[in-house]
Amino acid sequence: MGRARKPYPEVRSVSIWLDDHLWRAEGLTSISIATHKGWVEVSIELNRHYLRYLNRGWRLASEAKVKLDRRDRRLIFYLTFRKEVREYRPKNYITVDVNENAEAALIDGVVYLLETDLSKVTLGYYYRRKRAQEKYDKVYGPCSRPARRIFKRLSNNERALKREIRWKLATLIVREAAIVLERLGREPANHMIEHIKDPQLRHRIFQAAFKGMQRAIDEKAREYGVPVIYVDPRNTSRVCPIHGAEIVYGKDRHGACSKGGETWHRDAVACYNLLLRALGGDGGAAPRARAMEAPCRWA
Ligand SMILES: [Zn+2]
Repeated sequence: MGRARKPYPEVRSVSIWLDDHLWRAEGLTSISIATHKGWVEVSIELNRHYLRYLNRGWRLASEAKVKLDRRDRRLIFYLTFRKEVREYRPKNYITVDVNENAEAALIDGVVYLLETDLSKVTLGYYYRRKRAQEKYDKVYGPCSRPARRIFKRLSNNERALKREIRWKLATLIVREAAIVLERLGREPANHMIEHIKDPQLRHRIFQAAFKGMQRAIDEKAREYGVPVIYVDPRNTSRVCPIHGAEIVYGKDRHGACSKGGETWHRDAVACYNLLLRALGGDGGAAPRARAMEAPCRWA
C-alpha cells in the first residue's frame, strides 16, 4: 500500500531469553551461549555494579537475557542475582540513647558510648556560614546571589558529613538485636532548649538532629529485618534504674545516685531505663530485667 519505507519487514533489535541450558557462566568473567554453531564463549566487561553484587554474596541465577547491540557490535547481558537470606530472630534488646555528641547503646549488659561529635560538626559549619555571610554582605550587600551559593554548598557539606556519621553508626548498631528507641515528638529538642538563652547553643541543639539519627537506625533496621520498639522517653536519665532514686549530676554528664551513691553516666542511665520500659518495668520500681545483674559503672 506504499505505507512502509522498505519492501520487507526488518528486525531491528534482538533480545533473547536464555534459560539454564542455553547459557552458562564460565567463572565470573565470561559466559558461554549455545548457538546454531555450537557453544560460543564471550567475555564480560565487568562493571562496578556487577562486582558489588558478587562481593555481597549474591550469585547468578539460572536465567538471563541477551540483547544484540548492532550499532556498537556487542552483546548486552541482563543477569539476575539471587541470595539466600535467613529470617531474622532477635536474641535480645539493644537500647539506644541518642544525643547531640554521642550515642549510647546497651548491648548484652554493656553500655557502649559512640561519640559522633555531631555538635562539633554543626558548630563548625555554623561559624563557617557566619564568616561567609559577614564577608559577602560587606562586598555584595545582604542576601546576594554569591552568598546564597556558598551557603548552599556549606549546608550540603554539613548534611553529607552528618549523614555519613549516622549511617555508619546505624549499621554498627543494627547488626545484633531488636532495638528500643525513645519516642520523640515533632520537635524533640524543644523541651531541652526552652531555658537556654544563648542563640548559638539553641541552634546547636536544634541542629543535632536526633530524629535524623533515629531515622537512620530505623531504616537500617528495616534493611536487616530487625524490629524496632519506641518507648516513652520521659525522665529516662533522671532516675537510677536500680534504686529508683534521683541521680544528682555534676559536670561531664556524670552523676551519683542519691540513694546508693553509685556513679552513673547519663547516657548509660538512659539506656538502662529504656530497656526497663521496653521490658515492661517502669524504671522507677524495683527492676525486673535480667540485664540489671551487671550495672554499668563509670568511675
Ligand atoms: Zn542507685
